[in-house]
Amino acid sequence: MAETIYTIPINEAFEKQEGCPFCRLRRELEASSLEYIMGPALMEPDVRMETNRRGFCARHYGSMMEMKNRLGLALLVESRLGEVSRLLEKSLSMEKKLFGIRKQEASVGEEILNATSSCFVCYRIEVFEEKYISNSLSMWRKDPDFQEQLKKQPFFCLKHTGALLEKAQSALTDKEYAGFRAALMTVNMSYAEKLTGDLRGFIKSFDHRFAADGLTPEQQSSLDRCIEFLAGKTI
Ligand SMILES: [Zn+2]
Ligand SMILES: [Zn+2]
Repeated sequence: MAETIYTIPINEAFEKQEGCPFCRLRRELEASSLEYIMGPALMEPDVRMETNRRGFCARHYGSMMEMKNRLGLALLVESRLGEVSRLLEKSLSMEKKLFGIRKQEASVGEEILNATSSCFVCYRIEVFEEKYISNSLSMWRKDPDFQEQLKKQPFFCLKHTGALLEKAQSALTDKEYAGFRAALMTVNMSYAEKLTGDLRGFIKSFDHRFAADGLTPEQQSSLDRCIEFLAGKTI
C-alpha cells in the first residue's frame, strides 16, 4: 500500500515526458504540501507542534500569504511566534546565568540561526522526494515497462541525476546499477548534445552576419532549457 502511494505519482510524472520528471514531482509536492498545511492539517495538534518547531522559509511564508487564508496563517504564525519567544527568553536567562561567557553567547546565536533555517514545507518535500527516488529505483528493478518509460524521458536535470545515482549505488546490485547508470547517461548525453547545438545557434543569432537566418523554436528556447537542465525547474 505504502509503495502504491508513491508509485502512482511517479508513473504519472513519467507519462508526461515533459522536462525532468522529478522536478515535476517536486513542483507537485510543493503545491500539495502548501494545500495540506493551509487545509486539513491546519488545526492538527501534532502538525502544529511540527510547524512550531520548524517554522517556514521566506519563500513558503510568501506562498501561504498568496493563498488567501489570512486567519489560518495568522494562527500558524501566532504559535510559531510563541515558540520563538520561548527560545529568546531561554537565551536571555542563559546569558544572565553565564554573564560574560562569550562561548555561550555564540551557541545562542547558533540556536537562533537553526530556528530560522528550517521550514516545514521544504522538509516535507525532501522527505517525499527521497521516497520517490528510492521507489523509482525499486520500480526500475522490477518493472521492464518502467525501464522503457525511463529511457523515453527527455532528460533528468543534473540535481536529480546526481540524487538518483547516489541512491542507486546502495539500492541496486552492481549489475543493476551499471544498467541504470547507462540508461540515465544515454538520455542525458543525447539531450546535452542537442541542447549545445541549439544554444550555439542561439548565440550565433546575436552576430549581425547571421541575423537574417532566423531561429528555430528549439534554438529560441535553448537558454531556458539549458538552465532547466543545469539547475532543475523546481519552482
Ligand atoms: Zn529535476
Ligand atoms: Zn520552505
